[in-house]
Amino acid sequence: MSDRLHASCHCGKVRITLPGNAVGVLACHCGDCQKMHGNFNAFLAAPQTEVELSGEEALIWYSSSEASRRAFCGTCGARVLKEVTAAGRWLISAGLIDGPTGKRIIKNLWEQSRPDWYDLPAIAQ
Ligand SMILES: [Zn+2]
Ligand SMILES: [Zn+2]
Repeated sequence: MSDRLHASCHCGKVRITLPGNAVGVLACHCGDCQKMHGNFNAFLAAPQTEVELSGEEALIWYSSSEASRRAFCGTCGARVLKEVTAAGRWLISAGLIDGPTGKRIIKNLWEQSRPDWYDLPAIAQ
Protein backbone atom coordinates (compact mmCIF):
# COMPACT_ATOMS: atom_id res chain seq x y z
CA MET A 1 0.00 0.00 0.00
CA SER A 2 1.36 3.41 -0.91
CA ASP A 3 2.34 5.60 1.99
CA ARG A 4 0.29 8.65 0.94
CA LEU A 5 -2.99 9.15 -0.90
CA HIS A 6 -3.40 12.18 -3.16
CA ALA A 7 -6.64 14.08 -3.49
CA SER A 8 -7.76 17.15 -5.43
CA CYS A 9 -10.92 19.14 -6.01
CA HIS A 10 -12.56 19.33 -9.43
CA CYS A 11 -10.76 22.51 -10.55
CA GLY A 12 -7.45 21.42 -9.03
CA LYS A 13 -6.86 24.48 -6.84
CA VAL A 14 -7.10 22.44 -3.66
CA ARG A 15 -4.73 19.51 -3.28
CA ILE A 16 -4.40 17.19 -0.33
CA THR A 17 -2.19 14.33 0.64
CA LEU A 18 -3.21 12.08 3.49
CA PRO A 19 -1.82 8.97 5.13
CA GLY A 20 -2.46 5.76 3.21
CA ASN A 21 -2.82 3.87 6.47
CA ALA A 22 -6.22 5.38 7.23
CA VAL A 23 -8.76 2.66 7.88
CA GLY A 24 -11.41 2.23 5.20
CA VAL A 25 -14.03 4.58 3.86
CA LEU A 26 -16.85 5.61 6.18
CA ALA A 27 -20.28 6.47 4.78
CA CYS A 28 -22.32 9.02 6.75
CA HIS A 29 -26.04 9.20 6.04
CA CYS A 30 -26.89 12.01 8.49
CA GLY A 31 -29.09 14.93 7.55
CA ASP A 32 -26.17 17.39 7.52
CA CYS A 33 -24.20 15.27 5.06
CA GLN A 34 -27.28 14.79 2.86
CA LYS A 35 -27.76 18.55 2.60
CA MET A 36 -24.08 19.32 2.07
CA HIS A 37 -23.22 16.51 -0.35
CA GLY A 38 -26.57 15.87 -2.01
CA ASN A 39 -26.12 12.24 -0.98
CA PHE A 40 -24.35 10.34 1.72
CA ASN A 41 -20.84 11.49 2.58
CA ALA A 42 -18.11 8.94 1.90
CA PHE A 43 -14.84 9.92 3.52
CA LEU A 44 -11.50 8.89 4.91
CA ALA A 45 -10.59 10.15 8.38
CA ALA A 46 -7.11 11.30 9.34
CA PRO A 47 -5.53 13.40 12.08
CA GLN A 48 -5.29 16.97 10.83
CA THR A 49 -1.57 17.01 11.65
CA GLU A 50 -0.99 14.18 9.15
CA VAL A 51 -2.81 15.88 6.26
CA GLU A 52 -0.98 18.21 3.88
CA LEU A 53 -3.13 20.82 2.20
CA SER A 54 -2.23 23.18 -0.62
CA GLY A 55 -4.49 25.82 -2.13
CA GLU A 56 -5.96 26.48 1.31
CA GLU A 57 -6.84 30.05 0.24
CA ALA A 58 -9.42 28.60 -2.18
CA LEU A 59 -11.34 26.96 0.66
CA ILE A 60 -14.52 28.44 2.11
CA TRP A 61 -15.34 27.26 5.62
CA TYR A 62 -18.84 26.71 6.92
CA SER A 63 -19.75 25.85 10.51
CA SER A 64 -22.18 22.98 10.03
CA SER A 65 -22.60 22.37 13.76
CA GLU A 66 -21.11 23.53 17.05
CA ALA A 67 -18.61 20.70 16.94
CA SER A 68 -17.53 20.81 13.33
CA ARG A 69 -17.00 22.88 10.24
CA ARG A 70 -16.74 21.98 6.60
CA ALA A 71 -14.67 23.29 3.75
CA PHE A 72 -15.56 23.50 0.09
CA CYS A 73 -13.67 24.89 -2.87
CA GLY A 74 -14.80 28.45 -3.60
CA THR A 75 -14.14 27.98 -7.31
CA CYS A 76 -15.57 24.57 -8.21
CA GLY A 77 -17.76 23.89 -5.17
CA ALA A 78 -16.26 20.50 -4.38
CA ARG A 79 -16.94 19.40 -0.80
CA VAL A 80 -13.39 18.90 0.37
CA LEU A 81 -13.46 18.04 4.05
CA LYS A 82 -15.22 18.10 7.38
CA GLU A 83 -13.25 19.12 10.45
CA VAL A 84 -14.21 17.56 13.78
CA THR A 85 -12.67 20.46 15.60
CA ALA A 86 -12.19 19.20 19.15
CA ALA A 87 -10.77 15.89 17.94
CA GLY A 88 -8.33 17.52 15.53
CA ARG A 89 -9.66 15.19 12.87
CA TRP A 90 -10.30 15.83 9.19
CA LEU A 91 -12.74 13.77 7.16
CA ILE A 92 -11.61 13.96 3.53
CA SER A 93 -14.26 13.34 0.87
CA ALA A 94 -13.38 9.99 -0.71
CA GLY A 95 -14.42 11.11 -4.19
CA LEU A 96 -11.57 13.61 -4.31
CA ILE A 97 -8.90 10.94 -4.06
CA ASP A 98 -7.08 10.42 -7.35
CA GLY A 99 -6.33 6.89 -8.49
CA PRO A 100 -6.96 3.65 -6.67
CA THR A 101 -7.32 3.93 -2.92
CA GLY A 102 -7.13 0.27 -1.94
CA LYS A 103 -10.00 1.08 0.45
CA ARG A 104 -13.56 -0.16 0.79
CA ILE A 105 -16.55 1.14 2.69
CA ILE A 106 -16.17 -0.41 6.13
CA LYS A 107 -18.91 1.29 8.12
CA ASN A 108 -22.19 3.13 7.71
CA LEU A 109 -22.92 6.01 10.11
CA TRP A 110 -26.36 7.44 10.95
CA GLU A 111 -28.12 4.66 9.02
CA GLN A 112 -31.38 5.73 10.65
CA SER A 113 -31.21 9.07 8.79
CA ARG A 114 -30.83 7.47 5.35
CA PRO A 115 -33.42 8.78 2.89
CA ASP A 116 -35.77 6.29 1.27
CA TRP A 117 -34.34 6.42 -2.23
CA TYR A 118 -31.22 4.28 -1.81
CA ASP A 119 -30.12 1.18 0.03
CA LEU A 120 -27.20 1.27 2.44
CA PRO A 121 -23.90 0.55 0.70
CA ALA A 122 -22.53 -2.90 1.34
CA ILE A 123 -19.86 -3.15 4.00
CA ALA A 124 -16.61 -4.84 3.04
CA GLN A 125 -16.07 -8.02 5.03
ZN1 LIG B 1 -11.86 23.45 -6.86
ZN1 LIG C 1 -22.91 13.07 8.33
